[in-house]
Amino acid sequence: MKSIVVNPVHNFAPAEREKPVATDKRMVLKTKYVAICGSDNMLWNAYPGMVLGHEFSGYVEDPGPFPFRKGARVCAAEFNSCGQCEFCKAGQEQLCAQMMVDNPGVSMDGGFGEYVSVRGDYVLELPDDVPMELGAIVEPVAVSLHGVRNSGIQPGEPVLIWGNGPIGIYAAACAKLTGASHVYMVGRNMGRVNFCNKFEFIDQCLSVKDEKFQEQLKAITPEGGFARVIDCLGLSDYDELLGLMKSGGTLVMLGMHAQKATFTPMSLYLKELSIRTGLYFTWQDYKDAFAMICANKDLFLKTITSRIPPEPEAVQAMFIKLFDSGSNDECKVLLAYDD
Ligand SMILES: [Zn+2]
Ligand SMILES: [Zn+2]
Repeated sequence: MKSIVVNPVHNFAPAEREKPVATDKRMVLKTKYVAICGSDNMLWNAYPGMVLGHEFSGYVEDPGPFPFRKGARVCAAEFNSCGQCEFCKAGQEQLCAQMMVDNPGVSMDGGFGEYVSVRGDYVLELPDDVPMELGAIVEPVAVSLHGVRNSGIQPGEPVLIWGNGPIGIYAAACAKLTGASHVYMVGRNMGRVNFCNKFEFIDQCLSVKDEKFQEQLKAITPEGGFARVIDCLGLSDYDELLGLMKSGGTLVMLGMHAQKATFTPMSLYLKELSIRTGLYFTWQDYKDAFAMICANKDLFLKTITSRIPPEPEAVQAMFIKLFDSGSNDECKVLLAYDD
């Protein structure tokens, strides 16, 4: 089957790969849409030989022993938890030691190929009225929903989201749809700041580049500060953000970054702040994100800003636009396969 492979790093090349086969645990999908994610950028720059793509929808090609008919329109979580360990039993599949093993687009061939192998018990069928494009964004919405839930947000509370890439935008949607009173964002590039300010679920998106940024930030910060803050960027220093927080509040680090970051512990002590992270999502988060998207189709369709052919040149050009240009106004971009 035709695939697109990282070769060498920072480049995509065409490749011929073996079509996957169904097993007692896995089924095979014919890829329809696969979304590009910020974590694909890390893999593109470090893992030659990888077939990326962990956010996808497709048609059931071979259901194996699972109760789906061939041709059914589905989406699937890429994860591969064991179902037996203490975490799996507690519904915390994202913490399972087996999670990253045979994980399509991460540790095995993913949706940048014509067919993809997925765990048959982590597949959902799309209702007839839900476009397949939306199936490809359930995964990142589930990541954002998991992060929002880890913030402990209560209905009626405002939230501050730092970083306005897709995960930040989906976190905004999840926060609003779970009852946040106000969703404020901080971004950098003006194209995307303008994009965010057009969304129903974002009350205001500020730009750090705006000369009145500090004034604007002060104006949106509630008296006493924000109890719920989600960092979707991966800051290198957290003191400014901690300074905006309310006593007893929670900061969730959702922007994945490998470099060191700094903060002054005293700013945590004095307000008894908590720092949490968010790794993937639980299966329940995935199902809830799916339901949220199905109930708000038009809203989520607006987050898909480009569809490109699944060809190495087109994908290479889009990765450069998204991750190397320093400025773009895209939100989610999908590779679209022919039926
Ligand atoms: Zn992703
Ligand atoms: Zn497990």
